Amino acid sequence: RELPGDPRTDSFPREVLHACYTKVSPSAEVDDPQLVAWSESVADLLDLDHKEFERSDFPLLFSGGSPLVGALPYAQCYGGHQFGMWAGQLGDGRAITLGEILNSKSQRWELQLKGAGKTPYSRFADGLAVLRSSIREFLCSEAMHHLGIPTTRALCLVTTGKLVTRDMFYDGNPKEEPGAIVCRVAQSFLRFGSYQIHASRGEEDMGLVRALADYAVKHHFPHIENMSKSESLSFSTGDEEHSVVDLTSNKYAAWAVEVAERTASLIASWQGVGFTHGVLNTDNMSILGLTIDYGPFGFLDAFDPRFTPNTTDLPGRRYCFANQPDIGLWNIAQFTTTLSAAQLINDKEANYAMERYGNKFMDDYQAIMTKKLGLPKYNKQLIGKLLSHMAVDKVDYTNFFRLLSNLKADTSIPEDQLLVPLKSALLDIGRERKEAWTDWVKAYIHELSTSGIPDEQRKISMDSVNPKYILRNYLCQTAIDAAEVGDFGEVRRLLKLIERPFDEQPGMEKYARLPPAWAYRPGVCMLSCSS
Ligand code: AMP
Ligand code: MG
Ligand code: MG
Repeated sequence: RELPGDPRTDSFPREVLHACYTKVSPSAEVDDPQLVAWSESVADLLDLDHKEFERSDFPLLFSGGSPLVGALPYAQCYGGHQFGMWAGQLGDGRAITLGEILNSKSQRWELQLKGAGKTPYSRFADGLAVLRSSIREFLCSEAMHHLGIPTTRALCLVTTGKLVTRDMFYDGNPKEEPGAIVCRVAQSFLRFGSYQIHASRGEEDMGLVRALADYAVKHHFPHIENMSKSESLSFSTGDEEHSVVDLTSNKYAAWAVEVAERTASLIASWQGVGFTHGVLNTDNMSILGLTIDYGPFGFLDAFDPRFTPNTTDLPGRRYCFANQPDIGLWNIAQFTTTLSAAQLINDKEANYAMERYGNKFMDDYQAIMTKKLGLPKYNKQLIGKLLSHMAVDKVDYTNFFRLLSNLKADTSIPEDQLLVPLKSALLDIGRERKEAWTDWVKAYIHELSTSGIPDEQRKISMDSVNPKYILRNYLCQTAIDAAEVGDFGEVRRLLKLIERPFDEQPGMEKYARLPPAWAYRPGVCMLSCSS
């Protein structure tokens, strides 16, 4: 109500000017929808009694098939740069916000149904989502959260009971797939593109950039809103050589810096667990620094810096694993350009936000890698060498780091024994590579032995950052294959598994296995944007 909306409420595809959203209701057809899975921890976040999920009308409510009492459904208008090119208006083409829940801790959580039918922002598409991609989004949002990574959450996943037609990747032939709807939950779904769209429309809509910035700061960055100019704040101002930017005099500059730093932290945490988003367009960048919009994402199996899970990203590999930090900066540059165009920040403040992105990324990334290796301090050479060895030998990113905590800081171990604890991660290395790895382990053990940290203590610390279980694509695919024939058991088992990624879970070891050969077929390890 604080922001201007579209006077129309129909879902006819159109450019929506001078407005931040359109009131539009879920319209996806449903036929005996079923509850596939739900997240207990998200239910708790919303103060939802677990019994609610047993209600016979629950799937109907959360498929949008029957309206929720008190809901005020709407779809947001946003734009974005897709693969580096300005794409104009995009918007919630298939996501419809139902409204916000104020929980007992006075937190506001927005609930959104993804796949709930057409909106004015659906362009040429159907506004629907298929079970396959909905399972992926549901499980991965929860997996990321439990890995300690900021993300939108997922309350529940329901089937619609209707089929949806999709062009499949390999043979290009349309295929019918079961439809589904995920209920996504976040404090805000605002994206960089939510600001860009209004600035792109010129002077007339520039006021909306400011109004939406005021809205975000007031509701989601209250510490900035409440920042008093006379107070001396603890913002560091970078190198002495650089001109000092006073963030207390301009709340929009303070905000831009915080968005930049949250984005940097987020991407550093992705690099730590080998997560590749796959579609880092500016419309998929949350202003809260959340992982948002799970499409053709993938966790690294074999370490490959050039890995992209997105077929649309070939051959450029703009969104490959190793590029994510640079793309984050590119996206922040688009965001600060937008704020500059609306005269909310000046060039100096824009540059400063980007500088802070770089510093924050390096600080966080180095801290994460140092912790992954259980080192007393950052060691650029040791970490760089390790990653290059891992790339050469295509070593599994997750399992290697998990095994690494079994090494002992004992420099008297004979050379031919050094690789023994890592054996299962280094099975495929040739004889000629053994020497390189032995040298590395020797240097690593030397570093550990000077740290004075006891082996057991280091193992506990390393195992708390190096997950045993991650949501590998092939695991997702197994759950999808079963769900598509009506068996939701594997989705639920995987949910339980990824809720405790750092714990040894007896009986679940097979979920830590490397992908089987079938996992390398197209459609499992590689997906396209549209699903
Ligand atoms: P994405 O690549 O998922 O970030 O989506 C880019 C844009 O396409 C967003 O505006 C989405 O809402 C829209 N979109 C994606 N899939 C659909 C669909 N099936 N129906 C309508 N809009 C869609
Ligand atoms: Mg998107
Ligand atoms: Mg998407």
